[in-house]
Amino acid sequence: MTQRIYLDYNATTPLKACVVQAMQAVFGITGNASSVHTEGRAARKHIETARQHIATLANTPAKELVFTSGATEANNAIVQGVPCAAWLVESTAHASLIDQPHHNKHILPVQKNGLVDLSALEQLLQTLPQPCLVSVLAVNNETGVIQPISDIAQIVHAHGGLLYVDSVQALGKIVVDMQAWAADYMVLSAHKMGGPCGVGAWVKTTKAPDPKSLLHGGGQERRKRAGTENMLGIVGFGAAAAIALNDMPTWQAQQNYRDNFVATLKQAVPELILLAEDAPRVANTVQLALPNWLAEKQLIGLDLAGFAVSSGSACASGSIKASHVIKAMGFDDNVAQCAIRISSGWDTSENDWQKLADTWIRLKP
Ligand code: PMP
Repeated sequence: MTQRIYLDYNATTPLKACVVQAMQAVFGITGNASSVHTEGRAARKHIETARQHIATLANTPAKELVFTSGATEANNAIVQGVPCAAWLVESTAHASLIDQPHHNKHILPVQKNGLVDLSALEQLLQTLPQPCLVSVLAVNNETGVIQPISDIAQIVHAHGGLLYVDSVQALGKIVVDMQAWAADYMVLSAHKMGGPCGVGAWVKTTKAPDPKSLLHGGGQERRKRAGTENMLGIVGFGAAAAIALNDMPTWQAQQNYRDNFVATLKQAVPELILLAEDAPRVANTVQLALPNWLAEKQLIGLDLAGFAVSSGSACASGSIKASHVIKAMGFDDNVAQCAIRISSGWDTSENDWQKLADTWIRLKP
């Protein structure tokens, strides 16, 4: 069997060894964190330690961090729960944001390179009723584009709005600092940085209004999210957060490998389209399109050759459809249907990238 090369870290990452160890260490705990007995208090202690690790990583107030079943739930909780007169959502946002209904929803356009159009933001905020909740991604899951969060925060706050940042793809790849960014709300997830799937969180500043709870029926998480906490998942999330910064030095190497990969492809195929090439991007991600070579054909060919890559967002890849992110950046359907995303991890080797380049060039029609 061919050795598999996994290059889909933006969809989900492998569990890190010390995350597995931390989770194994609590398998034996029976307590419900809401119970007052010794077993319950043991579970509570692990949850609070994890909360502190995550809050430290993202520089957020720990007591304002609420655990959820993942970022999808957290995004729903903020958008549906924050009291606001209007909601402005970035056109390239993840489906768990952009697909939500809202009583007064508006779309914030991006430029061709994927960066938010700041003058459009100004103009929209002048006409929309306040407080307007503005949602942006710190890092885009498809293109890897890093938005200028502090600049966006200044504009939003100057108009009396609230800034809400989905930081799922940023955690562990760039410095995530809720206070320096001046974000009012933030959403996080464990499984893009070596933690388990099915656990995430939302967090707000102390003065931001409380979202009304999405789930009812229990007083957990200070009455902000009903349901017995996923102690095992939360412990894994905390362990991943505690060591996330250790990976920072590995990203420079990933950036070099990725850029060499892109240079090889460009030399072989001058008509290759690199999405968001001139915008600041995280080191591990590249999205590229070769018009008339459908993404699903590329994915299947690469999969058979031993590579796991993706077409845009994994959540949509069960049924491959044109990427709404690429369309929002102003490209036509052909580009949006022919784009693949490659996303590496802390342990991807230079050889992995080179093998992918050779294979992609060999398979190309
Ligand atoms: N936001 C972004 C930017 C994401 O990439 C994802 C996962 N693809 C989510 C939200 C949803 O996260 P989860 O899988 O934890 O529900």
